[in-house]
This record gives sequence, structure tokens and C-alpha cells, in this order.
Amino acid sequence: MGDLEEIITDIVNSVDCLNCRGCCWFSIGEEHLLPFFGQQEINSLDTEEQKKLHKTSEGLFQAESITSKVKKGVRICAFLEEVSHKCSIYEKRPLDCLLWPFDVIRLKNRKQSSIYLSVVSNQMCPATKKGNLLLQDTGQRIIRRLEKLGFFEEIRNGKRHIWNQENFHRLLHSLDDYLQNKID
Ligand code: SF4
Ligand code: SF4
Repeated sequence: MGDLEEIITDIVNSVDCLNCRGCCWFSIGEEHLLPFFGQQEINSLDTEEQKKLHKTSEGLFQAESITSKVKKGVRICAFLEEVSHKCSIYEKRPLDCLLWPFDVIRLKNRKQSSIYLSVVSNQMCPATKKGNLLLQDTGQRIIRRLEKLGFFEEIRNGKRHIWNQENFHRLLHSLDDYLQNKID
């Protein structure tokens, strides 16, 4: 996934990334936003690391959360080393985390559901204060990589979890054509 990481690094390693530690923790009640792991990502974890996942009702695997020792009312990803704020599986982190601050989401309140690539709000990730054109262009490049990685195939086969749209998501690109195999 090296070049996917490079594309996103343009955004998150920029001067706009304030190292605000806004990633990897969740308010109580937001645990459904913890990252999901695909089969290859699970296989790359050792036995102890795999114990930090649980199986959801849809049969997919998601990171466990634990209570923060430093922030009240906060849950953190079980893979987060809280004091240093480092991911203990950084090199093996799942696509859901690699994509941050981008997300693949399902649009709510539509008769027909639509899947979008989105980016989180400035408030949630200050590194996304970038101009819309840059975010759009990065989004297009991410989509091309996701296609090569077989991501859309995994969605079609129900092997990837898709989050519902939340109010902090900004829509970038519809993925419906990719999911219906209409793109050459
Ligand atoms: S939330 Fe955004 S700005 Fe904050 S540390 Fe993470 S990538 Fe950087
Ligand atoms: S797996 Fe790593 S990068 Fe992903 S949320 Fe957990 S600590 Fe953060």
C-alpha cells in the first residue's frame, strides 16, 4: 500500500497537521467509528494483536476500544500507546486508518443508497484545511489506488464495512460507478 500512503502523506504530514492527537480516540458512544480490519490485514497481525479485535454482528472484525487513562469520558483504540500517542501496529494498520482523514461512507436518507469518498471536517482534522481542489485531486488519486487494491471488489462482496455519513463528513466523489463496475 506504499503509494497510497504517499498520496495521503501529502495531506497529513503537511504544515497543516498540528499533531493535535485528534486521531485514534473516541467519545463514549462513538465506538462504532473504530477501524475495521480486512482478512489480509488480520493475517498480518500476531496472535496477541488479533485478540484486540472483535467480530461485529455483520461478521467483520473491528478494533476493540479501552478506557483512556488520561482523558475522562474517552475511549481509545486498543492499539494506541496512549502516552506517546503512537499506533503499536503502525506499519500494519488497516486501510481504514491509512485513509485518514478520508473515509468511504454511505449516504443516509436516500431512497437508493450511495457510496462516497469523503474527507472529515477541519474541526476534526485541521490538516484538511486544504483547498477543495487539492482535496478533490487527492481523492481521485486515492480512488485509483483503491481500485487497484481490490477495495471495490471487497465492498461488492460484503468484505468491507462502510460507515454511514456523519455530520463531520464532506463529500468528495461518488463511488457508485466504481462499485457497479462502470469504470474502465
Ligand atoms: S487529526 Fe489531522 S491534524 Fe490532528 S494529528 Fe491527526 S492528521 Fe494531524
Ligand atoms: S489501529 Fe492504530 S492508527 Fe488505527 S485507530 Fe488504532 S491506534 Fe490509531
